[in-house]
Amino acid sequence: MNDLAVDGYHSWSTLYDTVVGKIGIEVEQDGKKEVLSVGQAENRMTSPDREERESVFAKYTEAWDEQADFCAEALNHIAGFRNSVYKHRKWDNVLKEPLDINRMSDDTLQAMWQAIEENKELFVTYLNRKASLLGVEKLSWADVDAPLSNVDTKMSYDEGASFIVEQFQSFSPKMAEFSKHAFEKQWIEAEDRAGKRPGGFCTGFRVKNETRIFMTYSGTPSNVSTLAHELGHAFHSYVMDDMPFLATDYAMNVAETASTFAEMVVSDAAVRNAKSKEEKIALLEDKAQRSVAFFMNIHARFLFETRFYEERKQGLVPVERLKEIMVEAQKEAFCDSLGSYHPYFWASKLHFYITDVPFYNFPYTFGYLFSASIYAIAKQEGTRFEEKYIALLRDTASMTVEELAMKHLNEDVTKPEFWKKGIDVAMEDVKEFLELTHD
Ligand SMILES: [Zn+2]
Repeated sequence: MNDLAVDGYHSWSTLYDTVVGKIGIEVEQDGKKEVLSVGQAENRMTSPDREERESVFAKYTEAWDEQADFCAEALNHIAGFRNSVYKHRKWDNVLKEPLDINRMSDDTLQAMWQAIEENKELFVTYLNRKASLLGVEKLSWADVDAPLSNVDTKMSYDEGASFIVEQFQSFSPKMAEFSKHAFEKQWIEAEDRAGKRPGGFCTGFRVKNETRIFMTYSGTPSNVSTLAHELGHAFHSYVMDDMPFLATDYAMNVAETASTFAEMVVSDAAVRNAKSKEEKIALLEDKAQRSVAFFMNIHARFLFETRFYEERKQGLVPVERLKEIMVEAQKEAFCDSLGSYHPYFWASKLHFYITDVPFYNFPYTFGYLFSASIYAIAKQEGTRFEEKYIALLRDTASMTVEELAMKHLNEDVTKPEFWKKGIDVAMEDVKEFLELTHD
């Protein structure tokens, strides 16, 4: 099976990358024509200028429409391969493999989505408020991630570094000490220069027990959060330094725990330290956007993927039907609150084509809410929480998530009540945003 997968299963994924790499999106600005890559077009879609967002999104949709049959072919065969493997293994649930990889039960996953579904109202209110602030009746798909204003809240790299260390100090002196060390030893490649791959990541060197971080730091609040996020990953590796290799191989859902925790500590402090009301609104809006991504956008991906895999069992699913399933999933996940949706999202989102890990979606939401709950506990306990937190991180690769939460937090993750605690943390930001933007 693995031999066949090399030139079957995995090759559909590389074929997809080849197709996407060749896409050129032609846009016109001030009479000048330009051809953008997919990534460049996506950056333009978060422009503060609504006209630009909408026109780039229209061109972007056209480009995906042209490639849709290639993408559908690849997606259908990736899913078909998986479904066949599962059939031969006598697995009837398409979620069995991703749940096993993430060491979690179906009950836990269902409890998480149930808690989210029951608590979407406030996030819908936020989306409606954002629509009225942008002067539109309902947000379009491209408006969801758009900025509300152009406030300048930049921090130099050194300022960002000391801000992070200072904020970590109040939760975990060890995390602060470790981060200081990483800055002093220059473990972070953060230079803002042309020709650099976007995004950030953290990688480890097992023999030397050291980590390195890659990112592009231009001083925005989101750069400061990314830096804190990657330092969280590095700290997770650091606290496992002395453990045997196989006991350090944690899955994606808990991999994002330390990183998101670190990010929350820093972004919360940034809101508290905001110098103006406008700056505070911008920072809170950024946090609310993230919650919408985890509770609505990723929920849509999950709904789409489970439904598509079911239909695929009956045969090939054509482009038109893929678009329908996607829009239905988006409408459901966003509670019908948007004015337009993204029918080609199944084509444009690379995560659906990753063959190393199936269902590259719900572990993100898991990590976000799991660390939000930990953050809520840490806020109550202060630095007393540090030892407990480190002990939890050290167990992330040797326990199921149910055991992990029970042992270290005395919490039952198979119950929606646990997940509600994390959602409450996210709701605080939205409530504050709604108060500050009330006219
Ligand atoms: Zn991460």
